Amino acid sequence: MKLKIATLAGDGIGPEVTHEAINVLQAVAEAGGHEFTFAEALLGGVAITAKGTPLPQETIDIALNSDAVLLGAVGDNKFNHLTPDKRPESGLLQIRQILGGFANLRPAVAFPALAENSPLRPEVTAGADILFVRELLGGLYFGQPRFWNQQTGEAVNTMRYTRDEVVRVARIAFDLASRRRKKLTSVDKANVLECSQLWRATIDSLKPEYPDITVEHQLVDSMAMHLMNVPRNFDVVLTENLFGDILSDESGIITGSLGMLPSATIGGRINLYEPVHGSAPDIAGQGKANPLGAILTAAMVLRHSAGLEQEAAAVEAAVQQVLAAGHRTADIARGNTAATVSTQQMGKLVHAALAESIDRSQSLHAV
Ligand code: NAD
Repeated sequence: MKLKIATLAGDGIGPEVTHEAINVLQAVAEAGGHEFTFAEALLGGVAITAKGTPLPQETIDIALNSDAVLLGAVGDNKFNHLTPDKRPESGLLQIRQILGGFANLRPAVAFPALAENSPLRPEVTAGADILFVRELLGGLYFGQPRFWNQQTGEAVNTMRYTRDEVVRVARIAFDLASRRRKKLTSVDKANVLECSQLWRATIDSLKPEYPDITVEHQLVDSMAMHLMNVPRNFDVVLTENLFGDILSDESGIITGSLGMLPSATIGGRINLYEPVHGSAPDIAGQGKANPLGAILTAAMVLRHSAGLEQEAAAVEAAVQQVLAAGHRTADIARGNTAATVSTQQMGKLVHAALAESIDRSQSLHAV
């Protein structure tokens, strides 16, 4: 298959981790005879330095002319004096808007080898493998009216949803659940909010179309507790914008390191893939960044833009294997400096594990 990928590596550790993600994608392409092409474009601080704006038109053109956009991270302290609309981060907000994705996917997975890294007990996190689907373009963050009247001392935000907005993100969640463990947990606050009542009624109205999916509803407050008590009970978790923002961050605790978390935003013109972490200026350029979040993000490109489920799973398995063998970047080493590897070494280890598993499966096919 052919895939044109725009790479917006950005600032700080963005280029370091994106490089490792691209290597993994190239390995998959070579092994499977796929044609992946990569087009680099500037975003964030590097774009301000080169072109005077955090999102140059050329970057927009390259992104819109691709099948998928792979982003590193943006943000550079040297631009902190600029107004928010001119800073590196505004380029990220703009490109997200232009690409138009309304379903934000955030996996929260417990890696057995990293069980000790989570503040939760290993027996709590064991077996957790959750996929959050967060509605991204509606709800309280966008609803009108919104204002803060300093004279009257009143501030207003509006939570607003239409049935169509709920249907489109719910269909994505149902479809993903049907490719996983076939359970969908929809989160709302239907005992208090009309928006949540619409949300719940809409999910229920779609249920007959997906008879193989078990659907449950959870109130957001109790869901926050269940996630930390029995995370293995959940498969796909569907939420509106604000609830998903909070619960997906909370569930990062299950994995235990910001450097390990991937994400994808789908449903718009072009899918956008980015690790959850920022540009980490404190460790940039030192080879200390954990590339696994970016590599797992590459696995999401394979799954959601290339339709290469087996290859995506192989990348995830390679990450598990490298961790199980004891290799760690500094953020997940828990003081064990003997086991610590650099960004590049970690990338190479995953690459080698992946190559080995591809060789094994090719020789199995040959038998
Ligand atoms: P951050 O995610 O960059 O870093 C938080 C902490 O986690 C730091 O100590 C950092 O060293 C560590 N960390 C993050 N990613 C890591 C990785 N892959 N490996 C090892 N350690 C890692 O968040 P921050 O410090 O709040 O923000 C720094 C800059 O990044 C700011 O300019 C912010 O606006 C920007 N930011 C960008 C994004 C994005 O591009 N999506 C997201 C969050 C923050």
